[in-house]
Amino acid sequence: MILRKKLKEELYQLYVNYFESLFNADVKRYESFFVDNFIQIGTTQEEVFFSKSESGTYLGTFVEPVAGKIEFRNRDIRLVTVDKLVLIIEQADCYVNSEEVWTFYDQARVSSLMKKTDVGWKFVQQHISFPDSRTEKGQTVALEKIKAENIQLKNAVKSRTIELERINVELEKVILKLKSTQAQLIQSEKLAAFGQLTVGIAHEIQNPLNFVNNFSEVSRELIEQVKSERLKIAGERDERLEDELLNDTAQNLEKIRHHGNRADEIVKAMLEHSRTSTGESVETDINTLADEFLKLSYHRMRAKYKNLQADFEIHLDPDLPKISVIPQQIGRVLLNIINNAFQAISEKDLSESKKLTDLEPITPLVSISTKTLDDMIEISISDNGPGIPDAIKDKIFQPFFTTKPAGQGTGLGLSLSYDIVKAHGGEIKVKSHVGEGTTFSIQLPI
Ligand code: ADP
Repeated sequence: MILRKKLKEELYQLYVNYFESLFNADVKRYESFFVDNFIQIGTTQEEVFFSKSESGTYLGTFVEPVAGKIEFRNRDIRLVTVDKLVLIIEQADCYVNSEEVWTFYDQARVSSLMKKTDVGWKFVQQHISFPDSRTEKGQTVALEKIKAENIQLKNAVKSRTIELERINVELEKVILKLKSTQAQLIQSEKLAAFGQLTVGIAHEIQNPLNFVNNFSEVSRELIEQVKSERLKIAGERDERLEDELLNDTAQNLEKIRHHGNRADEIVKAMLEHSRTSTGESVETDINTLADEFLKLSYHRMRAKYKNLQADFEIHLDPDLPKISVIPQQIGRVLLNIINNAFQAISEKDLSESKKLTDLEPITPLVSISTKTLDDMIEISISDNGPGIPDAIKDKIFQPFFTTKPAGQGTGLGLSLSYDIVKAHGGEIKVKSHVGEGTTFSIQLPI
């Protein structure tokens, strides 16, 4: 027999109606779906019944305690023909309402055989089973068990919650402890850094101080000699020696002044270092800042090195967005790097290149440019000075590292600049080739 769509729909509806009456324990109605010699088979071995009434009673004991409280969900219903009969196979999730809560009970498996009779399609045989672990022999749906399980579950949840709360308290304690350990670590790291810095400062200042002490000691002796020379009677006084001694003393005093100045510079630079954390972030036009500081540095250098033959170039990105920075600090960074660039080009004997290549001498040049990257802006400062040898490239950012003669550098400019740029969430990079020049790039987040 071919199962036509119309018949299929009719049998499907009949099947669903049957279960509706069954789950509502409507005995009369569900029995009306059976033929007289209807066979009902259940889950356990004893559950086999051979007539409409026996089967109806059995189903009654099964559904009455849960009338209106049982439901099939996620139903997978298939209809197939077997000769002139129709076999309906179903798998579904059986849910039971226990204390107003629908709870998954078990998977149900049903197979039903239907036959066309004079009074319409009827069930000939049906097998309902639960591969169930909860029902015991002779028992229907284990409602009591579900209740007990629910209570057990509630208790388990309760004790788990208590346990979790206890763990939470413990965790909070651990976090507190971690925080204080972290604070201690930061403190000791700060102290260590401070210690290192102190050693650095002591070392740097000790040097000029030694000179000052030695030269003043020597000068005191020289003056003693002059004094004792003067005590001699007229004919024995050696005035040439006296002049020499006084000249030496004057030279010593000059050295004392020079080294005194150096100590002074170091202290000033240190103070600058400690002032870096002050100032407020404001939306800043980096182009204006770069332009101002380049010109400022240029004029200062011209005043310092009277015969400096240098030029500068400015290439600014007109679309550079304003960024939030502490302008005094970024200005300090630009000034340090631009000053270094001018200092570098003032050192290099660029006329050398003419001798070597027979070309026009290269004009010492410092150029500054800005550009927008993805989420950063970049300021580049280039010079065509002597370049930085590879051997010292990774030392230039260390505090007190300098290759400049006393009085010209403290070795703090780049270390200070590095700290400032890092504190702004940016980066500072250097590219340099000996004999060609140096480019410092500063990247700052937008
Ligand atoms: P300082 O300028 O006081 O020496 P910095 O920290 O500013 O201290 O610089 C450290 C060193 O880095 C300088 O002494 C120099 O050797 C090197 N340096 C920095 N900028 C340049 C540059 N543009 N060209 C060549 N060398 C440079």
